[in-house]
Amino acid sequence: MDIRYKSTRNSSDETVSSSYAILKGLADDGGLYVPVSFPKLDKTIEELSQMTYQEIAYEVMKLFLTDFTEEELRYCISHAYDEKFDVDSIAALTKADDTYFLELFHGRTIAFKDHALSILPYLLTTAARKNNVKNQIVILTATSGDTGKAALAGFADVEGTKIIVFYPKDGVSPVQEKQMVTQKGDNTFVVGIHGNFDDAQTGVKKMFGDRKLSEELDENGFQFSSANSINIGRLVPQVVYYVFAYAMLVKNGEIKAGDKINVTVPTGNFGNILASYYAKQIGLPIEKFICASNKNNVLTDFFGTGTYDRNREFFVTSSPSMDILVSSNLERLIYLICGSDADKTRDFMKSLEKDGTYTITDSMRAGLSEFFARFASEEETLGAIHDLYEKTGYVIDTHTAVGAAVYKKYRNETGDKTPTVIASTASPFKFARSVMTAIKGDVSSFSELELIDMLSQVSQREEPPAVIELKNAPIRHKTQCDVSDMEKTVKTWLGIK
Ligand SMILES: *Cc1c(COP(=O)(O)O)cnc(C)c1O
Repeated sequence: MDIRYKSTRNSSDETVSSSYAILKGLADDGGLYVPVSFPKLDKTIEELSQMTYQEIAYEVMKLFLTDFTEEELRYCISHAYDEKFDVDSIAALTKADDTYFLELFHGRTIAFKDHALSILPYLLTTAARKNNVKNQIVILTATSGDTGKAALAGFADVEGTKIIVFYPKDGVSPVQEKQMVTQKGDNTFVVGIHGNFDDAQTGVKKMFGDRKLSEELDENGFQFSSANSINIGRLVPQVVYYVFAYAMLVKNGEIKAGDKINVTVPTGNFGNILASYYAKQIGLPIEKFICASNKNNVLTDFFGTGTYDRNREFFVTSSPSMDILVSSNLERLIYLICGSDADKTRDFMKSLEKDGTYTITDSMRAGLSEFFARFASEEETLGAIHDLYEKTGYVIDTHTAVGAAVYKKYRNETGDKTPTVIASTASPFKFARSVMTAIKGDVSSFSELELIDMLSQVSQREEPPAVIELKNAPIRHKTQCDVSDMEKTVKTWLGIK
């Protein structure tokens, strides 16, 4: 079956191929590309449970990316999921306190975004070739911390591409910042902006939507594409690990094929949890989607009331990759629950852009019944790290801890004992100070490096290669700019007057 894509904001019959959607990132009308219909898994769970991560990746991705040949897809997969990951299984499932932590942090930047961003450069360059693109692809990215580094690592020195990353200068962890500003590669450019993540994301979206700018780029032999989680080429690879997790549960005898599971996902831009929702659409038996937020609880309120309202205080928390007030990928869910009505979706999004808020209808709210959304305070987050460590010796990072804390609320409120997979989105080594504070109390007298050593001891895990490398890496990127100067900064770097 050929799967075509359309923009969430385009009510015409116009559709595009998967490779074109990947190449564009965002549609010209500002909408997000969504599949016109959902394919179905054509392998049984028993078959999938015998497969490697790479084989499952092929089985899932071939369903969505139907204009890629088998050879192209297998090439992309084998180059993405290789020894860059520090476990042969690529992802790992660890049982602790009767739940399953799906460890998605074994890649180069020790956060789950590696799963999508290791393969996106291959998908994108393949897509460019398929669509006869002659321009250089300029990846324009806003990051709350983890996307930036994962995208930089993925695209560094990939021929035919350049990558520019904007991050909030004071809104990422020291390790996240160091990871980015030490990035190698002649085609990479990292800029700290004087603003928060939403400012960075809005600035990037504005450049994408700017026709005049895109003409200027074209005249100079460039075109933009996106490595942000709005790109369908990031979403599809994320569906893979939910199928993988389910297959592992069956393989390990924890559940039987066909049994229902829940997933808990620490959520920011709504990409990861949406991928789990897409996994259900293709046939994976997921019962509940537990959407975990930190103190920036705009999604909790949305699921509770039907009103999305970004007009609120923004908090910097110990889970910075979830410090987000505008969750871009929610647009894809809105589109589905309003019956794939692009006009309605566009109206909601225009209202969000203009007034910072919109309210969905009651019938749309009924479409959200599979979701359970709560948030965890800072205290509850650190408490979840502490309690899990005391009980089991297993150490989780602050983002995963938001998930664990919210899952606990779910269990207390519902009594539901369905086996649950918690997406473990980052390695604790990435947030050593917060994690060690949770475990040991006041650690303010220790340096970041000392804390990493201490963490290695308490967790009985070796320091990941990504952390060791960082210790001596020289700083290569020092550019900063105001939000209003983002476009100028891009043009200057590309040599466009
Ligand atoms: C990006 C990120 C998240 C949020 O994921 P979304 O797909 O944006 O919802 C959660 N945890 C970590 C560690 C991240 O890097």
